[in-house]
Amino acid sequence: MFRMPRKLSRGEKTGIVAIALGLGLLPVAPHMALIPLLLFLLLSLAAPFFPQWSFFLPVISHGRPGEKGVALTFDDGPSPESTPVILDLLARYRLPATFFVVGKQAAAHPQLVRAILAQGHTIGNHSWRHDSLLMLRGPKRLADDIHRAQEIIAQTGARPLVFRPPVAVTNPYLGQALAEEGLVALAYSCRALDRGNRNITNLAGKILGKLRPGAIIILHDLPPHRAELSDQWQQELEQLLRTLAADFSVVPLAELIGRPVMEKETEF
Ligand SMILES: [Zn+2]
Repeated sequence: MFRMPRKLSRGEKTGIVAIALGLGLLPVAPHMALIPLLLFLLLSLAAPFFPQWSFFLPVISHGRPGEKGVALTFDDGPSPESTPVILDLLARYRLPATFFVVGKQAAAHPQLVRAILAQGHTIGNHSWRHDSLLMLRGPKRLADDIHRAQEIIAQTGARPLVFRPPVAVTNPYLGQALAEEGLVALAYSCRALDRGNRNITNLAGKILGKLRPGAIIILHDLPPHRAELSDQWQQELEQLLRTLAADFSVVPLAELIGRPVMEKETEF
C-alpha cells in the first residue's frame, strides 16, 4: 500500500544540512569539513534535554502566537494528599487546569481522575510509571509504556490527546510512538524548578516573576517531600492561584494552544 512520506523532523533536516555543508567544504577546505558534522553531533546529544527545540518531533511548549492568556498544568498525580487540595483551590479561584497524570497513579486512584474531570479540568498522559530513563529504552518499550497509560486513563472516560514526557526528555522514537496513540508532545515554558515539590520556597514568586503572555505553567500534583512543609506548599499555591485569578487571564490549555487536549469518551 502506498504510504505518504513522513515529514522530516527538524533534527533530520539539520543532519542533511550538516552533511551537505561538510561535502561542500571538502574540496575547498578539507580540514574544516568535519566541523558541521561535529556540531550536528553535539546538537543531537543536547537535543533530548531541550524538548522546546522540537529537534526529534514537534513539541508544543507555548501558546499560539499572539495569545495573551496563560495555562496551568499539574504533573505527576493524582495523589490523595495533593489532588484534593489543588482541586479545592482551583474551584475557589475558578481556574481551569490540565493534569498530566501518571498511568500507575491513575490506576491506583481512578476516583481522583474522575474528580478532576468532574470539575471540568482536562487530563494529559505523563507515561505509565514516570520512568526517568524512559527515553533510553527501546522503541517498543517506550510505545508500550505510553499505550498502557493511555488505556488506563481511557477507563475513567477521557482519552488524552497530549503527552508530556517524564523529566521533559525526548528521543528519536517518541514521534512514532505518539502518532500511534493520536498524541502530540507538550512541554512548558514557565516553571519554578520545584523538583517535584521538593523545593517549594517562594514557589509563587518564582512563577509570577517569569510569567509571560502565552505561557504554559508547570506545577506538581505531589505532596511536598517533608510532611511539615504541607502548610507552606498550600500557602504558596494559594498565593499563586489568587494572583493569577486577579491579575492574569488563565485559559484552558486547549484554548491557549488552539487544539483539543482531550476527548471525552463518556459524559461526566
Ligand atoms: Zn513528571
